[in-house]
Amino acid sequence: MGELTWSRAADDTVVADGLLAAFGESFGGEPDGVWAAPGRVNLIGEHTDYNQGFCLPLALAHRTYVAVRSRDDGGLRIGSRQAPDRTWEGTVTEVSQDSPGGWASYVAGVAAVLAEQVDPAGLGADVLVDGYVPLGAGLSSSAALSCSAALAWAELVPGLAGVDRAELAAACVRAENEYAGAATGGMDQSVSLRAVDEHALLIDCRDFSLTPVAWTLPGHQVLVIDTRAHHSLADGQYGKRRATCERAAATLGVGSLRDVGVDDLEVALATLGEGHGERSDEGSGASGERRVSGEPEEVRRVRHVVTENARVLDLVAALRERDADRVGELMLASHASLRDDYEVSCRELDLAVAAAVGAGALGARMTGGGFGGSAIALVEEAAVEEVARAVAAAFDDAGLERPHFLTAVPSAPAYRVR
Ligand code: ADP
Ligand code: MG
Repeated sequence: MGELTWSRAADDTVVADGLLAAFGESFGGEPDGVWAAPGRVNLIGEHTDYNQGFCLPLALAHRTYVAVRSRDDGGLRIGSRQAPDRTWEGTVTEVSQDSPGGWASYVAGVAAVLAEQVDPAGLGADVLVDGYVPLGAGLSSSAALSCSAALAWAELVPGLAGVDRAELAAACVRAENEYAGAATGGMDQSVSLRAVDEHALLIDCRDFSLTPVAWTLPGHQVLVIDTRAHHSLADGQYGKRRATCERAAATLGVGSLRDVGVDDLEVALATLGEGHGERSDEGSGASGERRVSGEPEEVRRVRHVVTENARVLDLVAALRERDADRVGELMLASHASLRDDYEVSCRELDLAVAAAVGAGALGARMTGGGFGGSAIALVEEAAVEEVARAVAAAFDDAGLERPHFLTAVPSAPAYRVR
């Protein structure tokens, strides 16, 4: 078997030096500073954020860096070392749903949202990006990008001095929703800006209150398997799942599915099941072999959300008890629920999970929205390489492109590098 591909976190000094040189070449002169914001991986609590539920992400050591020079003329120049031919030039006031479009809207959108609070002229900036969060892998390179830029503006623009990180995170959510056209529920931005080093972050998505949870499984690592699969149904299916949850909440007479506890589940599912003899009309997604019963779609979707919220809290308890086996079990239960009830997994994610567990992982699950992206596995430190090799071999045998790998080390939230 050939070499495995590992996506490594970058060294701040090396990246900042590189950005400084590249900034001079692109824009001339020097930036006012360099800021960084992390990507994230979600340990558990998937498709719960838009249901005002719980999730438990951790900030990665893999970060996106921005070199920023502030301007007072409202002009914007936004470039990325990952998109060398797609630098955008414009102004803060012309940023809209359609402009700039593409990757630069994750940065420009932040300026547009912040411009509701301060004079747009003062938000002018030259911005150069360098990212070390794999793009589109479900590890939230998008929030790492918008959050690094948001922190730079918050620290550079005097009128934004009073804006706290919760408000910045909310601004980044709006930038993604309204300007980049990406549906995102708020987990990614909260963890990128508000994580605590060496901790996972329990997020209550009802009010975005946060509880840091110490990462207490010494001798274990979270192996991230970036399957590099991207099934194009992701966007439409996300919207459908969201709409189904809202419809079910309305039927049940609750504000959101968060208000349904595990103890209420049986009654709630019976209510949703009344008058439905039909199977899902949503299609089976990309999850391959269908394992679902003939239950109505709303029943299965709601069961996932309600049980997933409970699993998040159970996993927090297991971490506090340092019970790695229990953490692994909960990850597997989460995966089965996402695969069978929520139907957002796919062949590659199922294969990654099965192969990791087959090679000795204590548990594994898809992470992120699904239909591709990444899976995570809880693995004893000494076995990380072996599990990664087994996963790569399983992909080889299935004739699939090999995943990339990284390890998730709970790391710091966004900060100024220099
Ligand atoms: P994820 O957030 O899981 O990585 P998304 O599809 O939400 O996946 O976001 C990926 C998009 O974010 C990219 O397609 C690109 O538009 C933008 N992006 C993220 N990081 C960078 C970067 N370093 N340079 C340019 N664009 C980036
Ligand atoms: Mg994203």
